[in-house]
Amino acid sequence: MPACPPPTVIISKCLGFSPCRYDGKMISFPAANVLKPYVSFITVCPECEIGLGVPRKPIRIVLERGEFGEKETLIQPATELDLTEDMADFTAAYLNKLANVDGAILKSKSPSCGTGSTKVFASASSRNCLHRRGTGLFAEGLTGHFPYLPVVDEEQIADSAMRDHFLTRIFALATFREVAESGKMHKLVEYHTRNKLLLMAYDKEAMTMMGDTVANRVKRPFGEVIQEYGRYLLKMLSRPAGTGPNINVLMHAAGYFSDSLDPDEKALLEDRFREYRQNDAVLGELKKMFMSWILRYNVEYLLKQTYFCPYPEELSGSLRQV
Ligand code: SF4
Repeated sequence: MPACPPPTVIISKCLGFSPCRYDGKMISFPAANVLKPYVSFITVCPECEIGLGVPRKPIRIVLERGEFGEKETLIQPATELDLTEDMADFTAAYLNKLANVDGAILKSKSPSCGTGSTKVFASASSRNCLHRRGTGLFAEGLTGHFPYLPVVDEEQIADSAMRDHFLTRIFALATFREVAESGKMHKLVEYHTRNKLLLMAYDKEAMTMMGDTVANRVKRPFGEVIQEYGRYLLKMLSRPAGTGPNINVLMHAAGYFSDSLDPDEKALLEDRFREYRQNDAVLGELKKMFMSWILRYNVEYLLKQTYFCPYPEELSGSLRQV
């Protein structure tokens, strides 16, 4: 993979950076150390930022039901403080100052940072939570402000398919940001060419429209073209590439060297496709097998495609072990 700028990633500070949890502890998160050389982290602890000390009494999401519907509030039961507004104000001010961000890794289950995994209570004093999970108030503000931002929690990043999707997105977005900042059309053409198979796997139709945008037949200014391209990119990358589209891309790529494979290798390829149809997790292995053939037959076009190596290769191995 050619050198690419480090993605800028917001991370909950308690994930291996600071003992800032309500109980004065820090979460062991070895993945942060693996990622550090490759990404530029921005750490944040929203609860500390709104002035709650360490240690502090726990806070929780309480569902307020009123005449005009439901509203999630942030309450500290021990003090009966309603922190909803403080958190909303901090989040808005924080996000308004944030210029370039490519992704976020947030702490699961937190009333501030959790993304869809946080307990929700009917009142400040109820012992049992409701049968639903919510999103922390900071996380909600973040995803509202950046609707297509790649966001995972520390549990999701342990899942190989989710991790692969997240890393693919943040590196694709960081490289795109560099292209946008260059102001050069030829850089965008180059970006589109190198990412063609990757984009095809995510959304073939959108990839074709992005090709039209890049072709820029009506000679629009760079600013307009890059904005339109960026909108397509963010949206298309927000959903994981499906098994069918990945197989289509791989079959398309195999067309560059399949005549040179011997019968055993062709049979192996069929077997691997079968395995992949049953288990998403083998996609990485399939791509590695392709890479060995691409190198053997020196297929220059495929060697330049980010699809086979969308982020630094060392990351996948090291993150699998933590
Ligand atoms: S989950 Fe978020 S608010 Fe809670 S300690 Fe971690 S960084 Fe701070």
